[in-house]
Order: sequence, then C-alpha cells, then structure tokens
Amino acid sequence: MSEQLTRRSFLKGVAGVVGVAAVNSIAGCAAKETPATSAAAESTTAAETTTAAAASPAGTYIPGTYTGTADGIHSTITVTMTFDEEKVTDVVLDVSGETPGYGQDAGDALREALLAAQSTQIDAVSGSTITSQAVIVAADKCFAQARGEAVVEVITVDKGSEEDWLGTEPNIDEASVSETWDTDILIVGAGNGGMCAAAYGAQKGLKFRIIEQNPVVQDTRHWYGAIDSSESKKAGVTVNRKKLLAEISRYASGKCDQKVVNTWINESAAMHDFVAGILESDPYNYTCVFTAGEEARWPQSDDSPDYMFPEQEHTYHGSEIPRNEVFQQYIEGLGYSVDFNTSLVKLEKNTEGRVTGIIAQKSSGEFVRINAAKGVLLACGGYPGNPYMMEALDPLGTSVTTACSFSPSDQGMGIRAAMWAGASLDKEAAPMLFDRGLVAPGVDGGYVESPASFGGKAFPGTVKQYNPGTQPFLKVNRKGLRFTNESSPYNDTSYAAGNQPGRVYAQIHDANYMEDIKRFHTIGCSAMARNVPGMMEGQIAQYVKEGLIFEADTLEELADKLGFDSDAKANFLATVERYNELYDKQSDDDFGKMAPRLSAIRQAPFYGCWLGASLLTTEQGIAINENTQALDEDRNPIEGLYVTGDMSGSFFANNYPCLMPGVACGRTLTFAIKAMKQMGGLE
Ligand SMILES: Cc1cc2nc3c(=O)[nH]c(=O)nc-3n(C[C@H](O)[C@H](O)[C@H](O)COP(=O)(O)OP(=O)(O)OC[C@H]3O[C@@H](n4cnc5c(N)ncnc54)[C@H](O)[C@@H]3O)c2cc1C
Repeated sequence: MSEQLTRRSFLKGVAGVVGVAAVNSIAGCAAKETPATSAAAESTTAAETTTAAAASPAGTYIPGTYTGTADGIHSTITVTMTFDEEKVTDVVLDVSGETPGYGQDAGDALREALLAAQSTQIDAVSGSTITSQAVIVAADKCFAQARGEAVVEVITVDKGSEEDWLGTEPNIDEASVSETWDTDILIVGAGNGGMCAAAYGAQKGLKFRIIEQNPVVQDTRHWYGAIDSSESKKAGVTVNRKKLLAEISRYASGKCDQKVVNTWINESAAMHDFVAGILESDPYNYTCVFTAGEEARWPQSDDSPDYMFPEQEHTYHGSEIPRNEVFQQYIEGLGYSVDFNTSLVKLEKNTEGRVTGIIAQKSSGEFVRINAAKGVLLACGGYPGNPYMMEALDPLGTSVTTACSFSPSDQGMGIRAAMWAGASLDKEAAPMLFDRGLVAPGVDGGYVESPASFGGKAFPGTVKQYNPGTQPFLKVNRKGLRFTNESSPYNDTSYAAGNQPGRVYAQIHDANYMEDIKRFHTIGCSAMARNVPGMMEGQIAQYVKEGLIFEADTLEELADKLGFDSDAKANFLATVERYNELYDKQSDDDFGKMAPRLSAIRQAPFYGCWLGASLLTTEQGIAINENTQALDEDRNPIEGLYVTGDMSGSFFANNYPCLMPGVACGRTLTFAIKAMKQMGGLE
C-alpha cells in the first residue's frame, strides 16, 4: 500500500525529527578494529560502532555487514546492510515496532528503494515519513561504516527532563567545531516564519543563510491573517483596528504588548503584498481567496448580538505547491539555499552581550560555528512536541488534550536556546487547542505512557483532528449531563471539560446533522464541515468503522455504545429530552446558547463520539518588542537576536483566539519580514 512520494508530497506529511545537537560531548568515538562482518556484529548499534577500519583501497566499500539505528515514531529502527567492494548487496530493515498499517508496511518499499538507489537519496513513504526518515538516517550510518568513515551518534541533545525542562546550555569543545561559516543574517528554522524571511531576504539581495534541522521545509500553514490588505480593499472590507487591538488584548487579559500587536495590524498588508507578489506570479499563478465580513458573523438571533469577529483571512487556490516550497524554489532561483539537516545547538554572544551567531550541528554529527554579523532570526516553532515543557508550562492545556495535530519537530529548542542566552519567556501559556480530539470511550484527557516517544509520553488519540467536533451540537459529560454553552471559540468547550470527569465529553446529534450544520454557520476552518461536500458523511463512515463514532437506532442503544453506566444513561436520556424541549422553545434557558445553534435529536440514526482537545501548537514565546528583537528579563533588547512565529511571545496569553483565524500565521510572516528589514538595515 506504500506510495512513493515526490519531495513535495513528502513535505506535506513530513514530521520527521532528525537528531539534534549534542550536550558537552559527541557520543563514543572509539575506533573499531575491524569492520563488522559477523552475525554478532549485526546487532552492534551505531552508537557503539563508531570508526570503522581503514577503507579498502581497492573498492568503494569495505565488504561486510553493517548495522545502523535511528529513532522512528514508536521504536528504534535497525537497518542492516551488506556490501561488497562496489555495491550494496542486501538490506534488512527492522521496523516491527512502528505503527501497524503505516510504518510497519513501509519497510518493503524502503528496502527496495535503498537497493535500487544504492544510496540514501530515496523518497519517504506516504503516511510513514518519520519511519522513512529514521530508515534513511540509520542507512546513512551503514554507508559511513562501509566507507570506513566515522559514524557519530547525533541524537545526544540535552532535551531537558521532567524536573528541569530548560536544562543547561551545552558546552561545545572548540576542538569539535569543524567548520566556520560567515554571513550577515542567519535564519534558524525553515518553517512558515523562516521561509518567508528567506524569500524576503532573497528578494532584497541580503546576505543570509538559513538552516533547518529536518531534510525538508516545514508544512505550510495556509491561512494567514492580514489587515486591510489589497485583497480586502478589492472586497471593500475594512477592519476597525481599534476594536481588533482591544479584542486581542481582551483575549490575552492584557498580557500582550499592544505595540507588538500593532506591528501585525499595521504591517500585515505589506506582508500580504510581498507573499501575493510571489504566489500570484509566474510560474505559480495562485489566486488569493479572501474571507471576511459576513463569513465572520455569528448567526443573528433575538438573544445574541449580531457579533462579527474582526477576521480578515487569506489563502490561495490554483497551485499544488505549498507556499514554503514555493519560497524554497524562489530563493534557490536567486542563488540561495536551505542548509538542511543542520540544527541549532546554542547561541553565541560577545562580551558586550550581543548575539554573534550560533553553534549548529549537522546530522553527520559535525559542529559548525555560524557567525552572523547583523543578527540571528530564530523561527524554530513552539514546544508542542516537548512533554516536559508542556507539563511544566501548560498543565491545564496538557490535561484537556487528547490528540496531537502539531509538528513533532517543534520541541521548544529555539525557546530554550534563547533563554540560555538570557531571553525572557512569556509568563503564561497560550496553546492552540481545537475541540477535535476524537478518542474512544473511557479515554481521559492528558498524556499516556509511550515509551518510544520523546519524554516517554504521547496523547492518546489516533485522529489528528475530527473537524466536526467544533460544531455546536449537544455535548455531555461522563455523567450524561450537559455542562456548557456549546457555541463557543474552539477551545472553550475543551477548557470547560477540564472541570468534568476525565476531561472529555460526548458530542451527540441525529440524522439531520447537515441541516443543523448549515444553520449553525460556524466560522474559521470549522466551516469546512458545511462547505466541503461529503466531508461529514465521509468522516462519520470512517470513524464508525474505526469504533470512534457510534451510530444507533435508538438513544438507549447510543447511550450503551458510548459507555454510560446506568445512572449516567438515565441522565443522558433526560438531558436529550430537555435539549429537545429547549430546541422546541427556541430558547436555551439552561446555558444561553443562541437559538439557531440548538438542534433537535429525534431522527434516527443517532450519532455520538467522545472528544477532548487536539493540540496544534503553542504560542507562549520569547518576549519581543515591536521590532521583533528578543527581550531580556529587564525588558532590554538583546542585540543581534530576533524572534518570530510560535516561539515569539508578547502577543497571546491564556489561549489562542481561534475565531480570529490566521492571526498566528499572519503575525509569523509579518514579523519574519520585519526582522529581515531590521537586520538588513531596510528601515
Ligand atoms: C495542523 C496545523 C494547521 C495550522 N493552520 C494554521 C492556519 O491555517 N493559520 C494560522 O494562522 N496558523 C495555523 N497554524 C499555526 C501555525 O503553524 C503557526 O502559528 C506558525 O505559522 C508556525 O510558524 P513558525 O515558523 O513559528 O514554526 P514552523 O512553521 O513550525 O517552523 C519551525 C521550523 O523550525 C525547525 N526547527 C525547530 N528546532 C530547530 C533547531 N533546533 N534547529 C533548526 N531548525 C529547527 C522545525 O523543524 C521547523 O521547520 C497551524 C498549525 C498546525 C499544527
């Protein structure tokens, strides 16, 4: 079932985490006396197998059988390769600990690909990108041994610990820094912020380099918010900027820096012009799709104000190539490139406290000093993939989360490095939580043990996001009782469930769900349930099959399938009856939900499922000023250090304002450009 991927489609699914950085030393570099050729040697790990014996002068390889290992998604993957003097003659992969149906099934295709390519220049297998990446890393180690080169175990970073998520700045031995690169501007992270910064720098002819820990650019986040852009002018829509600033500040309970928010409000139109200027031109010719006005309006009713969120969102139709890859092509066309497989280890400062560059580590294990005369822009994403940081910095968000839709590569490394260099972290968490974490009955919110995952923990859900979870259908707790007004921003029901047993809840609707969804008229990406034909039906059918959504001819049967015990079942049936009464009355006398968002539950078949939150990312970051400079604990800018994206702070607190969609990516792109202008002396 494996599908060979182009680089572009690999990009769509990539989440692979290549080994990062080292603490204090490179793991064991002792030379082996002879290359491994015996069965016993096949079990030798790459960490143990370091320097092979001198290469055979006669051929390309030292004949023998070599083994390499790397961390996959659930297990340590072992690749064993046999070489004669000129070629690879056999490949054996052990991916048995990977996900059944995905990573486990990818083994055959990856084995064939390695044999056919006679190198590790192979495509990942669709749906198994982390497993594929681990196989590539492990196979690289086999090749290195066969060529008689040193194999250095790279994954030696101090990733912090449960007791101390920050850890300590690594002390890199000068002797192990094998190269020095000099540039004006260094961008760290080829994600949404980093690639936009690179494209802008390339257009302006700035001297910069961009490094990325993974072998490809990060997934593109397509919808971005920009205020009073050329698109909004075309549509004749303007935003009340004072109201928008007030709304963002209200969401953050005043814990944002309004000057920083104003940078996005006032400079995002120019950001849009820059992005559109590339995407809408040859050879891409995208068309911008603008969302605002009526789309941001809540349905009108007697008992609710006709409230409009100050939303102005932009995305593009008409091209298959994601924006980050377009930017990659764009910079390559102008003579720049991304240095992949290169990870930030630590920042370097001079005696005046100015950041002068970084120490990075390549996936081959070598350390590189990168001097950046005009500054370093960190764009390394948030910390959703780091359970130590999640539990310490956001215990509430962690406790209500059941599913992961984040990039596992975003493990807070940039935040930790900036803090080691004296930068200040926002004091309050701000997770991006969507109420879409579909789980089986009986599963609680929060981490479960997962020995092969980073930190030994993972969220229990297998579905990244069940988008219709955001629809304001009836929601009940494990006691069968309604507990909240279900018509809310995406994360409110998840937080309300934080006070309920197990921190999860069941969503209930009947066969008329599509009529209900049209009337609900939710906004943001939850509108996909209304706008994408067949999406609801398709997802229900799929998850009924997987035992995550339950279909029943009667409400009694549904209660049993959802796992309600006898008291809870009685409550559940009474709750549905009451909810139907409220619908008939067109007035939610219990929780005040607006009338158009009530629904009847009378028409079989009935449907139910259990939900918690799905974690997309974190927005608690390094405090910045309006020029995107990192701030120290005294609120003074750290010269030479700029931060954008999810690892930048001063904008959100408590939570992410989901009903102003696109703000996250919009500010990421805007601050990326702002930082390049600042470092490049363009303002
Ligand atoms: C599924 C999903 C959908 C989303 N959709 C939207 C949307 O439509 N609109 C919106 O506004 N927001 C959206 N977001 C949020 C959005 O992704 C972020 O707010 C933001 O755009 C991320 O940009 P970034 O550059 O900070 O991080 P990323 O784009 O995540 O990039 C970080 C990069 O840094 C690299 N990196 C990390 N550590 C190191 C290191 N030590 N050395 C080198 N490189 C490193 C990573 O590998 C990665 O490539 C979405 C998030 C998710 C998960």
